Amino acid sequence: MTGEDLYMDQIIVEDLQIYAYHGVYQQENEKGQNFYVSVILDTDTRAAGKADELGLSTNYGVVCRFLHTFLSEHTYKLIETAAERASEALLLQFPHVRQVTMEVKKPEAPITVPFGSVSVKITRGWRRAYIACGSNIGDKRAHLSAAVDELLADRKCRVLRVSDWVETTPYGGVEQANYLNGALSIETLYTPEELLELLQAIEKKEARERKERWGPRTLDLDILLYEGSVMDTKKLTIPHRDMKNRDFVLRPLTQIAPYEIHPILGKAISELLEEVEENGEKHVLL
Ligand code: ATP
Ligand code: CA
Ligand code: CA
Repeated sequence: MTGEDLYMDQIIVEDLQIYAYHGVYQQENEKGQNFYVSVILDTDTRAAGKADELGLSTNYGVVCRFLHTFLSEHTYKLIETAAERASEALLLQFPHVRQVTMEVKKPEAPITVPFGSVSVKITRGWRRAYIACGSNIGDKRAHLSAAVDELLADRKCRVLRVSDWVETTPYGGVEQANYLNGALSIETLYTPEELLELLQAIEKKEARERKERWGPRTLDLDILLYEGSVMDTKKLTIPHRDMKNRDFVLRPLTQIAPYEIHPILGKAISELLEEVEENGEKHVLL
């Protein structure tokens, strides 16, 4: 937890009435019906509250108008999609909002038995992730900078910190040139799987060819941590399976996030670095 996470305040809007055209049936798309939208915006209202200054907060009047326009001007078949898209639009539009819980109610939905209301409720937000980057072919510095630029250009990512690049010797026993390694922290609206897809697209753009594991490459981007998540699928292991054994990952990561906790090992990143520097392989060149 970082300082800014200590103050999680909420702005709440209940049952904003929006006449719109969402629905699976043609009649719904043509005639329309009332939807009621409730949102909880997780944000920090402290600065605005202390100064009594609207400019420091998120203006709920503007939020309501924004939602009203968005959901009446777009038409989706599903209220799931309406909630998904509207939440994302809110998160992109209002920079102080870290998380949105949105409920879209459809009390006039075409259901053939009596009911009070039907709704979909979702929570979406900016999630913090840490990424390791490495390059050992061509202009290594340029490849790493290009990766940062690509992330900067993606509106669903905000780059928070970028470590220094460190020169390191190769890992995994394949004979090859030295690496330049670094780490960065971002906030993102992408899920871990979507983030991996983005990172692989960036690698591809930098002309990476996938040959052997641990072999030479223009650019390698790995997800180290994702918002305290633990997952292990065919495509994705988070935290990165081998990070605790890699000084070339932990050294730059310690520079930008020394107190971040590894969710499985329960240790701070700086502690893991100490351990690998004492007992592990040494790859960082001083
Ligand atoms: P290592 O993962 O040991 O650092 P590498 O980076 O050289 O090795 P790649 O060839 O880049 O390995 O990736 C192999 C596969 O690893 C990818 O296709 C991806 O699906 C999978 N993978 C699993 N977990 C992660 C993760 N946290 N970040 C990136 N890729 C991952
Ligand atoms: Ca890697
Ligand atoms: Ca990789």
